[in-house]
Amino acid sequence: MTHNGSPSIAIAGGGLMGRLLAWRLSRRGLNISLFEAGSLAAPTGACWTAAGMISPLSELVHSERQIYELGLHSLALWESWASQLEAQVGCPVSFRRAGSIVVAHGRDRAELQMFERELQSKLASASAADIQSLDRAGLLGLEPALGTFEGGIFLRDEGDIDNRRLLPALLEALRLQRVTLHEDSPVVCEKHTITGREAAQRFDCVIDCRGLGAKDAIDGLRGVRGEVLVVETSEVQLHRPVRLLHPRYQLYAVPRSGARTVIGATEIDSDDLSPISVRSIMELSSALYSLHPAFAEARIVETRVNCRPATMDNLPRLLSEPGLVRVNGLYRHGYLLAPALLEQVEKIIADQLSEVA
Ligand SMILES: Cc1cc2nc3c(=O)[nH]c(=O)nc-3n(C[C@H](O)[C@H](O)[C@H](O)COP(=O)(O)OP(=O)(O)OC[C@H]3O[C@@H](n4cnc5c(N)ncnc54)[C@H](O)[C@@H]3O)c2cc1C
Repeated sequence: MTHNGSPSIAIAGGGLMGRLLAWRLSRRGLNISLFEAGSLAAPTGACWTAAGMISPLSELVHSERQIYELGLHSLALWESWASQLEAQVGCPVSFRRAGSIVVAHGRDRAELQMFERELQSKLASASAADIQSLDRAGLLGLEPALGTFEGGIFLRDEGDIDNRRLLPALLEALRLQRVTLHEDSPVVCEKHTITGREAAQRFDCVIDCRGLGAKDAIDGLRGVRGEVLVVETSEVQLHRPVRLLHPRYQLYAVPRSGARTVIGATEIDSDDLSPISVRSIMELSSALYSLHPAFAEARIVETRVNCRPATMDNLPRLLSEPGLVRVNGLYRHGYLLAPALLEQVEKIIADQLSEVA
């Protein structure tokens, strides 16, 4: 089972979790084989569609405290992992820890107050310092483009990463670390065994990171469709993710390089991967226009659709038995949770390998 004296690990799924795990575990000298159903250079998983926000505070309003705590830990790990990865491959991954802004129009001010109250009540007083109410001058000091708003909330300890730079950088790092890459290889995962189109292969341990592709193995795994627009304009400059609260739909705008902004996202309980609907384009664009009128002349350069892999309670699942670990249900929190969950997987793998040694 071992190869060159190192334990052998198979990872199924070359999306966010699979790539990140392959990178970290191969740095530890483990012998890693990565199996991806599609192409690694042109990913089709939820990871490629995502906005890349790492927002423990914003997500706390609608999630369990566990998500917030894992998210804070991930934020710290991203900071060091992003610079390690950049130094290794020589390309930026654009990790930014500049906080985020939440705004609402005057008629929706109650939404903003409710958001702040909910957040304060869920946080211990120490972390409540990370939430700052902004008057108009404070808001314009941080984001001069948001002149149509009377104020907002600054969530200091939030970040984001450019997934369209991160995922290719991880792939390059896997090549440098001589990870064995299998593309166009849909597989099934069992204890110690990966079965694809060819004969079954045996490994010291198998890690299943197939996202929605693991429906055969995880009870209640479901898709939550998300639609995103990418627009381009040099007329509006944002410096960090901005969320617009609205009673019916919520919008975020995440600034990226090349005068682009990622605008998202819908949340529809469905596995439907068909193109973005007219309704979603209208809702996202009209909310965007209300953020700044100059967005009306922005060009829509891309639309993205994918389904988030979610469990029935929207919490992640880390399931393990000897020879097999499954990580799934990252839902809308993949970038927020992956590094912290990865540390837990690393520990499980280390324990399993020491038991068989
Ligand atoms: C619109 C949208 C916006 C999002 N925004 C954010 C955000 O701002 N912040 C955040 O934290 N999260 C965000 N997410 C969520 C995040 O993208 C997911 O949680 C994350 O990608 C899940 O990672 P994963 O590796 O488990 O699955 P995926 O990224 O989906 O990867 C799974 C991989 O497994 C492969 N696969 C499937 N079946 C098989 C098989 N049988 N054999 C081999 N390989 C297989 C797939 O091809 C894919 O490459 C967003 C998601 C969407 C859709």
